[in-house]
Amino acid sequence: MTTESLVPAAELQRNLPMQHQQQTLTLEQETNPWEAQAYRFDLAARKLKLDQGIWKVLRYPTRELIVHIPVCMDNGTIEVFTGYRVQHSVARGPGKGGIRYAPDVSLDEVRALASWMTWKCAVVNIPFGGAKGGVICDPKRMSQGELERMTRRYTAELIEFIGPEKDVPAPDMNTNEQTMAWIMDTYSMHMRQTVTSVVTGKPVNIGGSRGRREATGRGISVCCDEALKHLNLPVQGCRVIIQGFGNVGSNAAKLLAEKGYTIIGIAEFDGGLFNDRGIDIPNLLSHRARTGSVTGFSGAEPAEPHQLLTQPCDILIPAATENVITSQNAAQLQCRILCEGANGPTTVAADDILEQKGVFVIPDILANAGGVTASYFEWVQDRMGYFWTEEEVNQRLDRIMTDSFQDVISYSTSHDVNNRIAAYMLAIDRVAYTTKQRGIYA
Ligand code: GLU
Repeated sequence: MTTESLVPAAELQRNLPMQHQQQTLTLEQETNPWEAQAYRFDLAARKLKLDQGIWKVLRYPTRELIVHIPVCMDNGTIEVFTGYRVQHSVARGPGKGGIRYAPDVSLDEVRALASWMTWKCAVVNIPFGGAKGGVICDPKRMSQGELERMTRRYTAELIEFIGPEKDVPAPDMNTNEQTMAWIMDTYSMHMRQTVTSVVTGKPVNIGGSRGRREATGRGISVCCDEALKHLNLPVQGCRVIIQGFGNVGSNAAKLLAEKGYTIIGIAEFDGGLFNDRGIDIPNLLSHRARTGSVTGFSGAEPAEPHQLLTQPCDILIPAATENVITSQNAAQLQCRILCEGANGPTTVAADDILEQKGVFVIPDILANAGGVTASYFEWVQDRMGYFWTEEEVNQRLDRIMTDSFQDVISYSTSHDVNNRIAAYMLAIDRVAYTTKQRGIYA
């Protein structure tokens, strides 16, 4: 079947070319995350010979909420921020996904991220659907008080839409454990009782899970181990470059260094570092804690962050944001393995170039699924009121990540598709099965 037979909602149709011809896309279209998601979804659905009706159901988000959030600023003025929460699918369980604060958040981005959450939860086979939230703001220029008031009012605006059985937010770019504590408290005040399982990624003393903070980085490290085993390559001497040194990148770097990988490059938004003999990650972490930046670290040479992406290495880990590997730089990449710590770091046009170059891609919906998997553990522990040791969390996490890696690789081999399309097909198949089984309520 072709996608022309679909009749999408008019507003969404505007952004969706029914024939995806990547060669004719402008860079702006190439870097629209919703287009990238829709393109890969269509490709995987076509290969699965997905039922036409289910195709339509899964292509678009179930629910999209736009809120305008008034906040009293420290200087006495009132500012109004725009926020979104998109629930892509709730077929396999409550919506699940983070909330990001950034000046360039858009509805298309949040839609894409919500859909990726659906596929990610299905790849690791945890009982959640997919959702995502975002607020257009510049958190670096806001005080803690302003951020708290904005977070609480945003939560109040979402109050009927979130909940342990409805939609469970978590941290994402520029949100953290403190943000989750404010959301949990605001929701609990409205419910007149403490409801810890309404969000995950909370501080450990108020219902957070041990190991959640490191979980995305840990999942990445497990994927790297499995990829090396699959390709018959040794850990010793394996050179890694990481873009992004936030929660995901820094924890991946720390865990990989502990396992014996050599981290030769770190690219941050304000500068990069390179050391062919390996960067001492614990030392770099203390330098960053002291100075607030990775720059000026004496254990490495300064490097241009964008140029680090194209330096020779065994594993490249983009762990910052979307669209860093595009048609403009994919041909220059010199890595053997690309392990996607961020959501959507690679564009569709870049996918084709990487495939021709023979780069082994560990797609985002698998590589960074450790975070949401530990979020699932947190939700389970909150509902039981019984908390696991860090070893228990890590063991369960390693098991799920290893099994999911193997599932994707087997799917790729048996269906003769690349790893990314294999991950999409596996995920779509699982969500489609549940959607059909539940049936369409009318
Ligand atoms: N924001 C993370 C992600 O993109 C975690 C989401 C969650 O734990 O719900 O996967």
